[in-house]
Amino acid sequence: MKRQLTYEDMKNIVGQINQRNYDYDEPFLNVVDEILDNSEGKHVQTVLNESFEKLLSQVNTEIEQVEKEMELSSLCRVGCAHCCYFPIIVTRLEVKLMLFYINQLPKDRKQVIKNQVEEYLHQHEATLSDMKKLDFEKDQNFKRKYKEFHLPCIFLNRETNKCMAYEVRPIPCRTYVNYVDADVCANELLPKEPISYEFLHRFYVEGMDEVIQEILEVVEDKEIGFSYPDDAADVNYLPLLLQEELQTTNVDWD
Ligand code: SF4
Repeated sequence: MKRQLTYEDMKNIVGQINQRNYDYDEPFLNVVDEILDNSEGKHVQTVLNESFEKLLSQVNTEIEQVEKEMELSSLCRVGCAHCCYFPIIVTRLEVKLMLFYINQLPKDRKQVIKNQVEEYLHQHEATLSDMKKLDFEKDQNFKRKYKEFHLPCIFLNRETNKCMAYEVRPIPCRTYVNYVDADVCANELLPKEPISYEFLHRFYVEGMDEVIQEILEVVEDKEIGFSYPDDAADVNYLPLLLQEELQTTNVDWD
């Protein structure tokens, strides 16, 4: 049976993870190679969607590998969605890729997401307006202030507490893990016990960059619906970017 970790144990383990002798580039580049090797005859949009899902999924695979090596057992459970009240900061490109992915889902599932997104943007209009004033680059307390909104993520199904965009949930949703005490997430605004594997973000981004560069050899970014690299440098809160995208682009929800 795996032992219960203390916060001090966790700090030591974080040190070990940071010093781990491991080539993170390789598995992500292998994913890219496999996608590109099997891309012949596929629509570029399909290649893009596959790459997005698989490279994000590789982040989880890498976390599982670390957990196996260090004998860590996550306390995060399906239906526990406290981290879905944290600010999720993403790029405009990621939001577009999420929308592309959602657009190719079966009609019924897409309709449920569409309904929730539209209702959410209407219901939380005032909070979204306050969110625009919360500067995550300059305000060191932005996370606490955001949590005080008590605003669920736009993709959180409030009945099941499950993510409606699970396959393409962004990096922060995958990399925040609690190994110490599940109660702290329920009881504290900013618990110190969970750790973040956010360093993996870089490898997924580099993988997506490789795929996009290949795609741009055969088709222009505007034809697919994004602007590269501008969209990859445009960073903001997930619901705000989603709101802008739905207002300014012709996303086909039907
Ligand atoms: S995208 Fe999904 S997992 Fe991430 S915060 Fe939103 S509901 Fe939660």
